[in-house]
Amino acid sequence: MIKKIIRRVFNPAPHTNHIKPTHQKQIIAKKTLKSAIEPIRYTLKQHGIETNLLSRAALEVCDGLHSVGFEAYVVGGAVRDILLAREPKDFDVATNATPEQIIKAFRRARIIGKRFRIVHVIVGRELIEVTTFRADKEGDEKTDAYGRVLTDNTYGTLATDASRRDLTVNALYYNPENTEVIDFHGGMEDLKYRQLRMIGDPATRYREDPVRMLRVARFAAKLEFTIHPNSFKPILELKNLINNCPPSRLFDEVQKLFMSGYAVRTLNTLRTLNLSNGLLAVMDMMSAHPDADTFIHLALDNTDNRVNTGQSTTPAFLFACLLWHDVLKKANDLVDAHEKPFLAREQAIMTVTNQQCEILAIPRRYTVDICDIWGMQIRFEQVSKRNLSILTQPRFRAAYDFFLLRCDAGEQPAALGALWTHMHLAESREAAAELLDIYLRQLPESVISVKNTVKPKKRRRKKSNTLNIECINEPSISPK
Ligand code: ATP
Ligand code: MG
Repeated sequence: MIKKIIRRVFNPAPHTNHIKPTHQKQIIAKKTLKSAIEPIRYTLKQHGIETNLLSRAALEVCDGLHSVGFEAYVVGGAVRDILLAREPKDFDVATNATPEQIIKAFRRARIIGKRFRIVHVIVGRELIEVTTFRADKEGDEKTDAYGRVLTDNTYGTLATDASRRDLTVNALYYNPENTEVIDFHGGMEDLKYRQLRMIGDPATRYREDPVRMLRVARFAAKLEFTIHPNSFKPILELKNLINNCPPSRLFDEVQKLFMSGYAVRTLNTLRTLNLSNGLLAVMDMMSAHPDADTFIHLALDNTDNRVNTGQSTTPAFLFACLLWHDVLKKANDLVDAHEKPFLAREQAIMTVTNQQCEILAIPRRYTVDICDIWGMQIRFEQVSKRNLSILTQPRFRAAYDFFLLRCDAGEQPAALGALWTHMHLAESREAAAELLDIYLRQLPESVISVKNTVKPKKRRRKKSNTLNIECINEPSISPK
């Protein structure tokens, strides 16, 4: 079935529109300039989207709107992904009904959003996002000094809606009434050539909404598409405009960038586009600090594996990983300036959290968890009976996973990670303490350095308890 769809999309039947590709391209170019009037219409036979590939909920929403006299189309990522034989993440519907008319048509629907008012319609357990056709840009929407659109709630037609979408491959409309796919901007051609092309003048479109630059990077990574040179070049010039976007929108987008199952590819794309600057300080540090590079690649690889195998992932863990080397760097700078290591770590945690929240509005519920994960690390590093108390802390599991990742990246000794694993699996605190004793007895003297963080008198008393392990081979230890 999938093969059949690909064949149909990428090798349209000879009678398709009776237009040769080059001629077709000229028409598309003209249309793009003149805000497309006549779209290309693909029949079911040509595009191959069978009804069973669409969400029942999205079809019900379209039916509901058709039955009260409105137009309604499935649009965006769902159409694009089905045509690429991928499973859509969600289904969006576009209509000429206003938000008020949409909520009247459904029992479970509510209007959300200010900048763009959209309607969430719940059908069964699915949420369908329904938007009213947007008006052409020549409307009188408010913009900021850089051309960023601030409010945009004037409505338009199917054609104007298409010209307001970001990429040609995201502007394909499927009409469930007659099973046609409507293409105003050559999206089908771009799918065939696996390329991303901004609709309209790319620089203007990026100025209107700089988040589009991040979206281009995300789709290039997700779909493994190339970026058309005309859509690529302005990004290099305009990337700093991203910093003018509301931090809450940036937080949402960064989450999508790294929590959708292709984070490693996204990171590489962001770095190729030089889009990492400013967004997450750590990305700029990566080339200069190979340790950060290894750690982040491992963390993102781990996140991708979890997403792709249906395991849960939390933004707190992800952001703790993405920002960790910034914390370490700041803490090291403070230690160099003669601050005590523990206090330096605490201070660095506060600084990084505050700075990052100004750039990306990381919600408080996550920053609390992030600080807990970071705060516990020093206790994992310093093996002591007193530090066994972290075994029962609520955020232990996340902090422990985080510590193991650091061990995998070679930042902490693998043996220390193994010790914490055994202590975590031990039946009781006493059993964990025993394991710790065995472990300490097995360590050769030469690889143990005692941490001098207390005054000489007290140091003697703590000597046997608080140890900083610098480099060891894993001693054999297993729970009884
Ligand atoms: P996915 O859901 O797989 O991440 P998507 O293309 O569906 O990809 P959404 O964020 O769900 O992306 O947006 C739905 C559609 O809305 C897009 O396909 C695009 O047509 C349009 N869109 C979203 N964000 C923008 C934007 N910033 N500028 C212009 N159009 C946009
Ligand atoms: Mg979508």
